[in-house]
Amino acid sequence: MSSRPHILITNDDGVKAPGLAALAEALSRVGRVTVLAPQRNWSIAGHAKTLYKPLRVEETTLANGMPALATNGKPSDAVALALLGVVEPPIDLLVSGINSGPNLGHDVTYSGTVTAAMEGAIGGLPAIAISLQVEEGHHYETAAAFAAHLARLVLRHGIPAETLLNVNVPDLPAEAVRGVQITRCGRRIYRDELVRRLDPQGRPYYWIGGLPPTGIAEEGTDIGAVAQGYISVTPLQLDLTAHALLGDLHTWDWEGWSN
Ligand code: MN
Repeated sequence: MSSRPHILITNDDGVKAPGLAALAEALSRVGRVTVLAPQRNWSIAGHAKTLYKPLRVEETTLANGMPALATNGKPSDAVALALLGVVEPPIDLLVSGINSGPNLGHDVTYSGTVTAAMEGAIGGLPAIAISLQVEEGHHYETAAAFAAHLARLVLRHGIPAETLLNVNVPDLPAEAVRGVQITRCGRRIYRDELVRRLDPQGRPYYWIGGLPPTGIAEEGTDIGAVAQGYISVTPLQLDLTAHALLGDLHTWDWEGWSN
């Protein structure tokens, strides 16, 4: 790697989000940064990719005036476009965030922030997803400072292929953060409720409503760490195989299915 690493930055809150600006500013002290982010908010859009309409990339600026590229695509599109040549290689690291709101436990399957990092891992990049604990959070500077520290660590140590780091930061001033915990994914408790209404023609339509999720603040988990005021760093892997189930499945009767 050259002495000045090249860091690709994206997010799922859109190119004008305050967390993206804070992240780009902090990481510009670690290396050369290129920002390629969605034009609009794609939160909870998951690992979607655009194949059936054209993707555009235009020059714009972040909320802090730094130069950036914006796409009409989704977070994973932004990463894919960058890796396919829209951004000049080599790219040494991908950082996605700083998301407005947590990405804990099962959230990682919904999160555009985390799945953008997964797209980077699929493309062979070491990748970090970073989220601030509170929507409308105040302390992006805390998450940004930690992102810079972690980026240096990842560039120094590397992480295995097809892995990524999912980081959640409490919405606190840096001096109030109690430390860093390496964690596993916790158990989210979703409180979704079906909201059924009628349109002017009398046909029903639906919202997925309800209260924000809670979770089980178990020791050693991401949910437990941030609940106690720690920064949580969770290693994730693209291999979702349920290894504990492999043996069981081998004992099932797999014959006769085509009769
Ligand atoms: Mn988001």
